[in-house]
Amino acid sequence: MSELPGCPTDLPYCPPDLPRPATDPAGLRAATLAVRGGQYRSAFQETSEALYLTQGFVYDHAAEAEAAFAEDIERYTYSRYTNPTVTTFEERLALIEGAEDCYATATGMSAVFTAIAALVRSGSRIVSARELFGSTLVVLDDVLARWGVRTDYVTGTDLDQWAAALATPADVVFLESPSNPMQDVLDVPAIARLAHAAGAVVILDNVFATPVLQKPLELGADVVVYSATKHIDGQGRVMGGAVLGTREYVRGPLQSLMRTTGPTLAPFNAWVLAKGLETMPLRVRAQNAAALELAAWLEDRPGVASVRYPFLASHPQHDLARAQMSGGGTIVTFTLDGAASSSADVAARADVDRTFAFLDALRVIDISNNLGDAKSMVTHPATTTHRRVAPATRDALGIAPTTVRLSVGLEDVEDLREDLDGALQVFRATHARARQSVAP
Ligand SMILES: *Cc1c(COP(=O)(O)O)cnc(C)c1O
Repeated sequence: MSELPGCPTDLPYCPPDLPRPATDPAGLRAATLAVRGGQYRSAFQETSEALYLTQGFVYDHAAEAEAAFAEDIERYTYSRYTNPTVTTFEERLALIEGAEDCYATATGMSAVFTAIAALVRSGSRIVSARELFGSTLVVLDDVLARWGVRTDYVTGTDLDQWAAALATPADVVFLESPSNPMQDVLDVPAIARLAHAAGAVVILDNVFATPVLQKPLELGADVVVYSATKHIDGQGRVMGGAVLGTREYVRGPLQSLMRTTGPTLAPFNAWVLAKGLETMPLRVRAQNAAALELAAWLEDRPGVASVRYPFLASHPQHDLARAQMSGGGTIVTFTLDGAASSSADVAARADVDRTFAFLDALRVIDISNNLGDAKSMVTHPATTTHRRVAPATRDALGIAPTTVRLSVGLEDVEDLREDLDGALQVFRATHARARQSVAP
């Protein structure tokens, strides 16, 4: 909306000028753009971004409505199409990401779905990493499969599997890096090269890394999707999502699907998310620093079998993580000592119960399935986010009955450490009692 035409001479009236950006973004850095990008002050010269809580817009002349519908002039017509507050959020995020354009969506899942759906038709082929957010698996396997779109899965960290799958033409390649919850780090430049040679558009779900710690477009991805519900809000208030990519894609097939099917971001939510972006770089860096500290500390704790965190030397793709990301992220995944050798083992339920004793003993950290929040949260993936995943697949992904996903918030890191320490003591006592009771 910043490149508005002047008054077209062949119109019988002059459309009103739309405001110009309050700050010219040229040459400014991400933290500055997070605070100032995409703001359009109204005639009232307000300091904070205005909230345009309106469904529609009015026209001074009938001919102006005609020109707007004919797309002879660019202006706001209806908030299913777009709204000034939504524009602020979209422009701000696009500037931070370094993307040509952005389309805001009602949720992260509507971003995932529309980003893919805009690129496929019956007979299309998707190649995807197996390590995916649960609802994304359902979109691929149930929704798109019913419409004749086939998905072939590969183990995301295995480049040979990518090469074999992409020896055949494909329309879309989909991946998350780091993945949820086991934090596999995928070789984005190598996968993008294989994908492009196969004719595919690369879509990367960058929720775990955030716009602050990883720039997928620079690594070779074509499209980036976010659940803005996570770190972009970061304070547990509203749902939202975003799709970023070239202007040709965003304002072409994506916009036409979005405008007619309507998973639009509400102006109020856009306002909350635009304000969330102001503090996102600060919040993510602080949460990232605390997560690294807690991950390193957890590694030596009795009762903790293993820790998965991209910036720990023990991470299987540690060098790749250092090359692709400027921080390991705000989430630490760890697996407590357990007795079961697989999720199908008879001992698995007892392992789950002992892990529940750990979760229940936390007094600061909340049990929740969300992540990226200012409040620290723990999730038990095997019984919540990944409960629908078959036990054998959970084993293959490395999700044990004792695996815990910790989203590190903004509390004092010493309080979090003490909280985890206390809960680990409870876990060890429960674990020792269980072992005694089965001893001969
Ligand atoms: C949460 C999440 C989503 C879905 O976002 P919603 O806002 O809940 O719709 C997609 N991908 C990943 C990796 C997520 O963590």
